[in-house]
Amino acid sequence: MIFNTDIFSQYIDSEIVGVNFPAELTINNVSVDSRSLLNDEHTLFFALVGKNHNGHHYIAELAQKGVRYFVVDQLPIVLHKEAVYFKVSDTLLAFQKAAAFHRASFDLPVIGITGSRGKTVVKEWLNFLLGQDYKVIKSPKSYNSQTGVPLSIFGIKESHSLGIFEVGISLRGEMQRLQPIVQPSIGILTAITDEHNEGFISIEEKIQEKLVLFSSVDVLIAEEGPIIRSLTSDKPLMTWSLYNTDATVYGSLTGDVLSIAYAEQPLFSVQIPFTDVISVKNMMSCISVMLYMQMPIEAIVTGISQLYPVELRLQVTSAINNCTVIDDAYSADFQSLVIALDFLEKHKISKKKTIILSDLFFNGDNEEEYYLSVLQLLKSNNVTRIYGVGECISRFLADCPGVFLYETTDEFLQKISLDEFAEETILVKGSRAFRFDRIVSFFETKTHETVLEVNLNSIQYNLNFYRSKLKVGTKVMAMVKAFGYGSGSLEIAKLLSHENVSYLGVAFADEGIELRKSGVKANIIVMNPEINAFPAMIAYDLEPEIYSIRELKAFLKVARARTCYKYPVHIKLETGMHRHGFTTAELDELIAILRFTNVVEVQSIFSHLSSSDMPEYREFTLDQIELFTKNVNYLSEALNINPIRHILNTSGIYNFASFQMDMVRIGIGLYGVGNDPLEMEQLRNVTTLKTRIMQIKEVENNESIGYGRRYRVEGSRIVATVPIGYADGIPRAWGNNGGYVLINGKKAPIVGAICMDMLMVDATNIGCKEGDEVIIFGEQLPVTIIAEAIQTIPYEILTNISQRVKRIFYQD
Ligand SMILES: *Cc1c(COP(=O)(O)O)cnc(C)c1O
Repeated sequence: MIFNTDIFSQYIDSEIVGVNFPAELTINNVSVDSRSLLNDEHTLFFALVGKNHNGHHYIAELAQKGVRYFVVDQLPIVLHKEAVYFKVSDTLLAFQKAAAFHRASFDLPVIGITGSRGKTVVKEWLNFLLGQDYKVIKSPKSYNSQTGVPLSIFGIKESHSLGIFEVGISLRGEMQRLQPIVQPSIGILTAITDEHNEGFISIEEKIQEKLVLFSSVDVLIAEEGPIIRSLTSDKPLMTWSLYNTDATVYGSLTGDVLSIAYAEQPLFSVQIPFTDVISVKNMMSCISVMLYMQMPIEAIVTGISQLYPVELRLQVTSAINNCTVIDDAYSADFQSLVIALDFLEKHKISKKKTIILSDLFFNGDNEEEYYLSVLQLLKSNNVTRIYGVGECISRFLADCPGVFLYETTDEFLQKISLDEFAEETILVKGSRAFRFDRIVSFFETKTHETVLEVNLNSIQYNLNFYRSKLKVGTKVMAMVKAFGYGSGSLEIAKLLSHENVSYLGVAFADEGIELRKSGVKANIIVMNPEINAFPAMIAYDLEPEIYSIRELKAFLKVARARTCYKYPVHIKLETGMHRHGFTTAELDELIAILRFTNVVEVQSIFSHLSSSDMPEYREFTLDQIELFTKNVNYLSEALNINPIRHILNTSGIYNFASFQMDMVRIGIGLYGVGNDPLEMEQLRNVTTLKTRIMQIKEVENNESIGYGRRYRVEGSRIVATVPIGYADGIPRAWGNNGGYVLINGKKAPIVGAICMDMLMVDATNIGCKEGDEVIIFGEQLPVTIIAEAIQTIPYEILTNISQRVKRIFYQD
């Protein structure tokens, strides 16, 4: 896009700072992410300020890399002589105004979607339903926030003939800012639930706020009902309903056949692929839009009968030969490719990046140019190897070196050998039609049905929850010891270093070495360093916890031999836990050694609370903190140093935030488990352990189940066998004694003793079949419940989940 510099500057209320700025700006890329590999001389960079990120910190670095146009609210101290700075008072506001400026230069119909549930599904479905007849630009994934909406809007180009954008809000006043950016002509209000309610007084107020998006629509499509009627008397309304025949569009469902009447005339019946209420409601929104747009009935019927489940998350799994696979086998268009490549960069476990890419959804004029720009995008993202699958990609990229081409997924699977892949991160990205899920399973190592799903967004959310309890500037050390509390350390360490935590904590040196080998650059502290691991620790830049004189001397010896200078170390003080650390009596000896050496430097001094989660030991905790403070002061004065001080773990932050000092160490809370029920309510669930029913049988009265005949059947029961047992880490104590799993959302009691690889449940009143999903723990059945029932702690259950259980990481 090309902007007139002056007009643009006026529009966003900025003052231009820079020596000779051009009269026109040629912008190919609008960016708010300093890490994006697309940032170049045609990037317009908005320095946004968030809770934990400040885009202004990266301006000098970006200018170095060639970025020339910056929107800032604070000028850098040193101005780059070729850069142009647009100085504004609020960069987010300027970003939104710039998007509105871009939007205003296009005159195309736009469908705006808001509501609590179903926005993304309705958007994706409409894209599918209307994509044949229109050149659609839509928000990628669920980009519907204060920054996501503008980013989506910047995607609009001359060639598009229809926009479909979703908009989400959580606070009052937000919609006011987003309306001018989207300017929808067709409005869709999806279901309103009471999620994200904090910012609103009542459901009416919430709907009212959402309706701001529709202030100048030609039509508003919503479910028939009294609230919507009373709030929208001034708007052109088109309603739909599954219950009320007064609605403009009335749908009645018999079995899987949905019959539609429009303006009281029966129109058509269609067999629909899913019949749950939420899906049918989302279909009604789509049908209403198509009727309003006067699409032919046949097109509506065919389209609706072919709707598919919308999969929005990108999943990361481990694969053969130390590869990692990112599974994005559900969509293939330019914008979602950009997002997937960003995701690949953030989550790559090995340096080598590979992509397997199908034909892409194309709706412009010059298809060859389009594929060449895709290739350019892949190259600028440093993708080492490119595999293209499909007729179009094969045709247009035929002569490009380094691109391997296959006409079909079958051909790819036949010709490729697994030996060609090792130590690389493979992005598998294709549209649904290509069935790339087959490629994903081709690469998979463990193919058990049992998986531990790890929601990376929730970890991010939980981290921010604890950060919100801290003062600005308090550092965070994230504990990823014990394989990330059982969840998987590599992926989580990647995420956390991306979130700018100051340190990662591992238990043993080899855990740290593994992180380093896969490219984690963050500072890593080894909490239980073993003396024979010191040389390796120094080689891999891992910082030891020093807890005794003997250990310190041993470390100094190794470090001296390697001529280390001021190697960072962390001193552990004993304050009441009696595990390890220096007691008060040992401090003088410690000082005597440290005072005369340059080989190491004390980075931080810390201690650990034994009972921060136990209110009954509050006094004891305060005594620990007092002793710690006294001893840190003593050491710091004697050594004339000012180290980072830290003592709080997760529960410490929750219960003793005023003692956060310079840093806190968060462990279990990141993984969604709080030691206090109120605390836990505010966290998001991270891990879900699930599997599938392998067999169902009827068992007669008086028969017994499992080893030792520990369970006797009374009356006839339906028993389901589930392929997970104590060797997978399910505590045996959870069996036959009140323990249960969830099948289709219902409790199924575990009957009989839990076996090594299997367990049996009573599924009599559940209505389930072989192959149905079984939840062992997760959101609906938190590990804390299991831990409490069998008198252990959630830490033990999480870290015991066996490595044979495959971990799947995903992000919305
Ligand atoms: C494991 C550990 C933590 C984290 O504790 P949580 O209760 O999981 O937050 C903090 N500090 C030290 C020294 C630890 O060993």
